[in-house]
Amino acid sequence: MSNGFKHITFYKDVSENDWNNWHWQLANVIRDVKTLEKVLDFNSNEKEELNKCLEKFRMAITPYYASLMDKSYRRCPIRLQGVPQIKELIKDESDQEDPLHEDVDSPAPGLTHRYPDRVLFLITNICSMYCRHCTRRRLVGFNDKHLSGDAMEQALEYIRDHKEIRDVLISGGDPFVLTNDHLESGLKKLRAIKHVEIIRIGSRMPVVLPQRITPDLVKMLKKYHPIYVNTHFNHPKEITPESKNACAMLANAGIPLGNQSVLLRDVNDCPSIFKKLVQQLLSIRVKPYYIYQCDLSKGISHFRTSIAKGIEIIENLRGHTTGMAVPTFVVDALGGGGKIPISPNYMLSRSDRKLILRNYEGVITTYTEPEDIFSNCGRCKICDDERYKPLDGIAKLLRGEKLVLEPKNLKRTRRSNETKQT
Ligand SMILES: *Cc1c(COP(=O)(O)O)cnc(C)c1O
Ligand code: SF4
Repeated sequence: MSNGFKHITFYKDVSENDWNNWHWQLANVIRDVKTLEKVLDFNSNEKEELNKCLEKFRMAITPYYASLMDKSYRRCPIRLQGVPQIKELIKDESDQEDPLHEDVDSPAPGLTHRYPDRVLFLITNICSMYCRHCTRRRLVGFNDKHLSGDAMEQALEYIRDHKEIRDVLISGGDPFVLTNDHLESGLKKLRAIKHVEIIRIGSRMPVVLPQRITPDLVKMLKKYHPIYVNTHFNHPKEITPESKNACAMLANAGIPLGNQSVLLRDVNDCPSIFKKLVQQLLSIRVKPYYIYQCDLSKGISHFRTSIAKGIEIIENLRGHTTGMAVPTFVVDALGGGGKIPISPNYMLSRSDRKLILRNYEGVITTYTEPEDIFSNCGRCKICDDERYKPLDGIAKLLRGEKLVLEPKNLKRTRRSNETKQT
């Protein structure tokens, strides 16, 4: 592959074979200031800040990812994702330990069961690199471990027992830090569960350690289709010959690829950067899937932007570029509410039969709805089968199974209960 790393004096004697070997990359992950100094320039003030930061949070940067960083420009978007900043020590009033309640909503080790038909399965808390903006900082970068055999068995048992789970999302940490054999033993057991229709793997390896995507890995993965991989590109600079090659290998193995970016201040909080990113992603066969609003995990407040920035980014994509390049912008709700999509408003007004819409150019147009709007749906076998599955939320209201959704323990309900008792 490319020898783009030769510009770093520290690595100039490394052979291309070593550089392109993920074991070499992992063995040489940059964890201390002394090594980082050999790769990047920083002044004594930054060095002091870095040391202070490292007392509290660990650092890990793959040599490959470091080679994408600007040697001396502190605000380099790649550098900001890997090199700690003193701001990580700031505690913001909105910071939370586990903002998404991934631990609270966990019925078995490593599992978060939030949505009706799918689970998140965290099988390791180790990554090849520790992203400074990581939402799972409470797990990642502290107590390194994979899920134990026993814990894995308990989680699998839960999935076996819950026939409604048709989608398992393996994440971490980074699942691709496991050896192929280790990963395969998990996949094999999941595949043996009949009701698990699809398996998704979330990994940042194509971005931070693309060398990990080897012929052996993809050969193993494709035995367990349908497998999807979602990765995490945040900036066009991360699209390199290496990451492109990693994605090509996965795609050639028939694995559909998606991307989940995080909206990060000073890294990608710009419509132009995002447009370039999503267009380039499609060209390496990665479909932009989500943009996450930066959440409220501790120590990442300096990365947060307004939510408006995300809306502005979508406004600048929809209609302006390939529809397939437009991801969904989501806020992951506090307390385990899950992902909530946020979009610019395209519907301006409506009457009984007219919808007033605007397009990306600002053209205001109308849609006249049919006079007879009665739908025939609900009369075929598919709906009959679906009907017996319990629904939640607004869908339940629409189906007429419930007329009102109201919070538990409303004051007025409590009051009327009290009156009834006396
Ligand atoms: C994001 C997430 C999922 C998957 O959500 P999709 O919208 O289906 O991609 C599942 N479980 C948890 C806990 C999640 O955070
Ligand atoms: S790869 Fe993912 S889990 Fe690991 S540090 Fe980065 S964002 Fe966090």
